[in-house]
Amino acid sequence: MLHSRLLPGLLLAGTSLATAAAPSLKLQEAATSALHAGTPALMLEIEGRPVAVRREHSRALATGDVAWSGSWDATGQAAGGELSLVRSPAGITAVVHRGEDLLRIVPVGGGRHQTLPLATRQLPMHPPGDIPVGPLKPSAVGPAGAAPTSRVRLLVVATADAVAGYPGDLRALAELSIAESNLTYQRSGVDMDVELAGYVVTPYEESGNMEQDLRRLRSPGDGHMDEVHALRDQHAADVVLLLMNRAFACGLADQIGADADGAFVAVLEQCAAGEYVLAHEIGHLAGARHDIKRDPAVAPFAFGHGYWYQPPRALGWRTVMSYDCPTGCRRIPYWSSPDLLHEGQPTGNRNEADNRRVLELTRAKIAGFR
Ligand SMILES: [Zn+2]
Repeated sequence: MLHSRLLPGLLLAGTSLATAAAPSLKLQEAATSALHAGTPALMLEIEGRPVAVRREHSRALATGDVAWSGSWDATGQAAGGELSLVRSPAGITAVVHRGEDLLRIVPVGGGRHQTLPLATRQLPMHPPGDIPVGPLKPSAVGPAGAAPTSRVRLLVVATADAVAGYPGDLRALAELSIAESNLTYQRSGVDMDVELAGYVVTPYEESGNMEQDLRRLRSPGDGHMDEVHALRDQHAADVVLLLMNRAFACGLADQIGADADGAFVAVLEQCAAGEYVLAHEIGHLAGARHDIKRDPAVAPFAFGHGYWYQPPRALGWRTVMSYDCPTGCRRIPYWSSPDLLHEGQPTGNRNEADNRRVLELTRAKIAGFR
């Protein structure tokens, strides 16, 4: 089965962290403690082989932490890959993609780190049912690419359940999710950037129903998480994310093509890093839809679908908004577009699959919600 293998081990700070006999991946603590936003490359050791990871996107965070994303090319038999990490006082929160392998790294205290399974392989992307189309009117947005860089400020509301259920630093996980989102924009040439506007923990007790929890998040004056609306204003947050722990799906957006009142998304902590779920949900707010085979609706943009590609006898790939290929494929940090190439293939087409254009049309609107 595709994606079922995880890299068998990890070495950080000179300690074996996994039970597997032979650690296959090593990230030197010395390198990460000296890491800053301008660090051009990090050395990673995979199965005894040094790999230079080149920086693609990085940021010094307000807390003094660092978010850093980079990649390396395939050489000979060795697969290329991507690394995104957040260094916080708790340690390293990271995701490593290599070929079809995906490794999620979490700090568990005392300088120790652990790998976690990723729930995106077990859970559906969303709860059943269509996400409603919001009030966004294509006629009301300017030409694509007209605005300068759109900085989308995100208020993260973590539930107490999520804090209790996550073994690492949940705020760092939120930053990792943001770093991965920003990598997708950078790779795709979308002039947009998400930043953490604030991180709060709500005592709200999750219902187990993601739709209900998201509705309660967005509804002012319903007696549930009502403090969020004042916090959103106070932090000038364009979008609000509920980071949660108990649901039967990875994520949900309130609307496809949202206005300010609908700019709310929910993401399950177990899916928050590795497969661009936050970028996917913000994509829905911007008006982006899934691949046209699974999601043939044409509002708000007929061309606004994700895209997947399945080559014969090889592992396929899918863009941020696409559901899985018929035989399974990995999600890549790209938006669909006829003008972007991945492994020599366009990641979309002009009439049905141009999510890059959707983002370029609506990013300024989202960044202007607060
Ligand atoms: Zn979706």
